[in-house]
Amino acid sequence: MSDYLDYNASSPIDPRVLDVMNKCYLEYYGNADSRTHSFGENVRKQVENSRKKIATLLNVKTDEIIFTSGATESNNIAVLGLREYAEKTNKKHIITTAIEHKAILESVKYLETQGFDIDFIYPNQSGKVDVEDVISKIKDTTLLISVMHVNNETGVIQPVKELGEYLKGKDIYFHIDATQSCGKLVEEIQQLTYDMMSISSHKMAGPQGIGALIMKKRNYKSLPLKPIMFGGPQEKGIRPGTLPTALIVGFGRAAELSLEEYKSTSTKCKKIKKILLDLLEQSGLNYHINGDLSDSIDTTLNVSFPGISSEALMISTRQYCGVSNGSACNSKSYKPSHVLSAMQLDDELLESAIRISWGKFSNTEEIQYNFQKLLETAKNFI
Ligand code: PMP
Repeated sequence: MSDYLDYNASSPIDPRVLDVMNKCYLEYYGNADSRTHSFGENVRKQVENSRKKIATLLNVKTDEIIFTSGATESNNIAVLGLREYAEKTNKKHIITTAIEHKAILESVKYLETQGFDIDFIYPNQSGKVDVEDVISKIKDTTLLISVMHVNNETGVIQPVKELGEYLKGKDIYFHIDATQSCGKLVEEIQQLTYDMMSISSHKMAGPQGIGALIMKKRNYKSLPLKPIMFGGPQEKGIRPGTLPTALIVGFGRAAELSLEEYKSTSTKCKKIKKILLDLLEQSGLNYHINGDLSDSIDTTLNVSFPGISSEALMISTRQYCGVSNGSACNSKSYKPSHVLSAMQLDDELLESAIRISWGKFSNTEEIQYNFQKLLETAKNFI
């Protein structure tokens, strides 16, 4: 059977997560905001219990968690929700990186059309953004700096720790897109300094369609965020709409399991990465790793085979491996990856890049077998 090697697009759900969700759909079907009966109260307890689990994973307070439909929405709120404040204070400068997810890039580009001033920081050829480059762009009007923790295409870890330290006490909001690191780089995230953080359940073996925006208080004051969608008072009025109880309960269970198991998962994922790298090395193929291996997450490998089209390779090896050639949000369009382009890779590397990503349910032996097959197929292309 083909191996699923596209965890960065979406990870399989943990059956233990599904178990609690099933129970929830059947037993906690009320609305968490119903105040007139115990059904609502029981649902509320389930929601708050999950919130606690997520807060524990992240080392934040429960009232700092705003449930959203996923990291796309969290990112949109983090950027667009500050618009009114920016206009009032005339602080309309945003710094971000050229390798962010489209949910950040498109949000800031929209604000650019509305008179905002945006700086995009480019990474070096290893896929890492330099802290000094970010700092050098700060000006009096800088409102927001948004940088991802782990890049979804290369797995390269970005210097959000250093940036958070630098920005401590400064009058600039700092947002981190931690979608790909949440539940994986657990201790690192617990120690980060930031104002806002986006996370998503389906990247950590939870259900799709639920995520969160973490909103830290500044000097005990709430951030000047406004909703981007209007409705009821749920989630502090920042994210209106009936809370999807079962999704939240699944998300909470996924957070709990990540906390319990991240060390053993990381050991396994490291081993898989080594196997893939050894197989590449032994293959005799001409290959190039995109992104700095010494500073990347255990669950992602981005590799180019110069002269071999990634499209052709993926199609002819789909019986072995389900890989991708970039973010799922872009992979329909067959455009070269904006992340690899920002790293200034030459066309040959861009056109031949594949992203392999795995996780806690990956089977080491099966991956070894199937990746070997992929490499053998690649050899026939030469
Ligand atoms: N940010 C990053 C870094 C991602 O990898 C993704 C998912 N590809 C998102 C944001 C969007 O997450 P969601 O699917 O939860 O909207």
